[in-house]
Amino acid sequence: MKSRAYAALAAKTDLVPYEFERRELGSNDVALDISYAGICHSDIHQVAEEWGPAIFPMVPGHEIAGIVTAVGTKVSKFSVGDKIGVGVFVDSCRACESCQKGLQQYCVEGMTGTYNGLERDGKTVAMGGYSNNFVINEDYAVKIPDNLPLDGVAPLLCAGITLYSPIKHWKVKPGMKVAVMGLGGLGHMGVKFAVAMGAEVTVLSHSPNKQADAIAMGAHHFVSTKDPANLTPLTKNFDLILNTVSAELNINDYLNLLTLDGTLVVIGLPGKPYEVHAGTLLNGRRSMAGSMIGGVPEMQEMLDFCAKHSIVSDVEVIKADYINQAYKRTVASDVKYRFVIDASTI
Ligand code: NAP
Ligand code: ZN
Ligand code: ZN
Repeated sequence: MKSRAYAALAAKTDLVPYEFERRELGSNDVALDISYAGICHSDIHQVAEEWGPAIFPMVPGHEIAGIVTAVGTKVSKFSVGDKIGVGVFVDSCRACESCQKGLQQYCVEGMTGTYNGLERDGKTVAMGGYSNNFVINEDYAVKIPDNLPLDGVAPLLCAGITLYSPIKHWKVKPGMKVAVMGLGGLGHMGVKFAVAMGAEVTVLSHSPNKQADAIAMGAHHFVSTKDPANLTPLTKNFDLILNTVSAELNINDYLNLLTLDGTLVVIGLPGKPYEVHAGTLLNGRRSMAGSMIGGVPEMQEMLDFCAKHSIVSDVEVIKADYINQAYKRTVASDVKYRFVIDASTI
């Protein structure tokens, strides 16, 4: 299947128009026309090889919302014309304990990424969603509820599920104090979900100009981290901290904000390790944990939750020729709050 796309031909280069062939529709596959594809900071990390050597040419994009155009002979979940979403992975082993539990993102063999990796045949390079079309096994795609706009939905397929999953896992509920570090694509979804679950939500941001937006999203408090002294009154305050910051930082400054038995969940993935002081964890029996996207059943649950609560991402829709500019603005934390590519412009 012929595809038009935007690709990085080498590490740390601008993305350019690119054409390639996707695999033909298999009996368990669906084909889709992509309507919108979100730009996740993970795309930027990988094009820049900040997570290690990557595969080029690379068509990034793992926040894909589109319309089904064809279904294989054995497909039962989708019909032509359905709204469909694709996230960070397109396959997994299906047999391990994680896969059996619907936690395909934690597949012991490693999930099969939407791009920057090989498909399960071990030779086809997976190409992502900055493209006009896509083919995927139906078991790894989700149904998009009819009442949600496709542009605002696209970021839910990564940014949305990546915050929904830990918010559910750590049982966010009324009476809990939750902090979200970084009000970017992931962080703003964290605010919306934690507020919807009834928590008291604080945004910890190094961009003071985002305060009004944070409050409009439902956050109860906004604290500028530009001045570290602002964190001192928050010592031993939060039950849960969701760290979505894409850059390196002193994690101990934030661990200190956890109350007794509190947990800081690492979600942002900067290239360099954090330095954790043992004493900071011991004091207050604090935990530091991680969380990675969410499995297929939870992606569907998240979309249905969004449909019920009218939650979508705040997006700036762009044409494909603006991708490189959007990358620069995202790195500069100048995104409100997710760039989404209108795939008809590719
Ligand atoms: P993003 O839109 O760029 O948001 C990151 C936010 O971090 C920025 O908006 C900014 O918020 C804050 N920040 C950036 N640089 C900072 C600095 N130098 N000091 C302090 N704060 C800074 O990125 P995203 O798409 O939300 O992704 C965030 C991170 O999560 C990335 O590392 C990405 O790779 C990772 N990620 C992880 C998963 C997972 O499964 N765990 C999934 C997707 C993405 P303020 O302006 O409010 O400070
Ligand atoms: Zn992502
Ligand atoms: Zn598996």
